[in-house]
Amino acid sequence: MISIEDAQRTILEYITPLETEKVSVFQGLNRVTPEDHIAPWDIPAADNSAMDGFAFSHAALSGDRLRVTGFLPAGEVGLVPVPAGEAIKIMTGAPIPPGCDTVVPIEDVEEDGEWIRFTSKIKAGSHVRKRGEDIWSGNVVIRAGALLRPQEIGMLSAMGTTALAVYRRARVAILATGDELLEPGSTPAPGKIINSNSYSLAAQVLDVGGDPVLLGIAPDALDATCDKIRAGLNADMLVITGGVSVGDRDFVKEAIEKLGGSVTFWKVNMKPGKPLAFAMLQGKPVFALAGNPVGAMVSFELFVRPSILKSMGHKRLFRPVVKAVLQEPAANQGKRPHLVRGIVSLRDDRYHVSTTGNQSSGRLSSMIQGNGLIRLAPDASHAAGDEVDVLLLDRGFEMGETSQ
Ligand code: AMP
Ligand code: MG
Repeated sequence: MISIEDAQRTILEYITPLETEKVSVFQGLNRVTPEDHIAPWDIPAADNSAMDGFAFSHAALSGDRLRVTGFLPAGEVGLVPVPAGEAIKIMTGAPIPPGCDTVVPIEDVEEDGEWIRFTSKIKAGSHVRKRGEDIWSGNVVIRAGALLRPQEIGMLSAMGTTALAVYRRARVAILATGDELLEPGSTPAPGKIINSNSYSLAAQVLDVGGDPVLLGIAPDALDATCDKIRAGLNADMLVITGGVSVGDRDFVKEAIEKLGGSVTFWKVNMKPGKPLAFAMLQGKPVFALAGNPVGAMVSFELFVRPSILKSMGHKRLFRPVVKAVLQEPAANQGKRPHLVRGIVSLRDDRYHVSTTGNQSSGRLSSMIQGNGLIRLAPDASHAAGDEVDVLLLDRGFEMGETSQ
């Protein structure tokens, strides 16, 4: 059995970035750019007013009054120098005209006909945004490998970019296996269950920015499984669930081998999600995950999610792991690290965690209650109050809730 970390490292060595594609700047959101983006001009392009107010030369001030002799709205450029001892009314964003170096906001003057009087002390150079104080022409503003968040989208737009290259979204084919499975929409007959894994896995793919391709259900038969897997090779990666154990009807590993894939079949030293087969098949990564609903989701989290992220050019591949205070005793009587579904909360600046109760790997409801995975080492026995490592699956609990 290999460790979670060794399995992750080995898999990620096989994962290479996909090609890039050109998208409109807006579609670049949450994607990674392969290129440096260089400022084509200074922003701001010129010294300009930070406020609606009056511009003048500070050195030419005498007393607390000035005569206003002109008006400069945003979008226009004042070419005529403002005479010493006079002011020009100026709107936010308008370039500071020649002869001026200081702006007084409207709020800080009393207006009296064509005169203004300062109601507070004026500092030389105040309320002027300097040319290039945001970015300088020629500087690398967004580096290759950067994740594009709304602020990067805004900055790219400010630099005049309308389209750019980003790593394309990974197309991830998802195949469920099992004679017992029916698609949602049907009522389970005796002995049958609904295929839920395809949908939790597809949602996990979407959640990480990938593009899921649902292949449906393969029956527990070698040829039919081969056909479905072949169809899945049109995608960038294939995720299979079920049929990967050692039961009489578990054909997934055999099917991958029949199609020419060399399977690294592992029992990963973890619970849930012990069965995991990884193969490169015709250049495409293939993940065969447990059939148990929790095992499938947890294995996706640990092995498929980082792979999708890497293929899409991301540098941050792993969820955060934090220390949390156990709210109840927790023990691992087994010999494998146990990823116990936990309910994490934040109180008094510390993470607290309790377990979701029954940890059967068939209990999808343990994932619904939980928002983290507590990692309990083999033979660990913790008392309430002990600190444990928790992988945060979602961080929504850190955000404020309205009481309505
Ligand atoms: P297997 O690994 O194929 O032996 O499946 C292990 C368990 O997971 C069995 O109880 C299956 O019924 C269940 N299971 C397998 N595939 C799915 C699926 N797509 N959706 C929900 N449960 C599944
Ligand atoms: Mg099965």
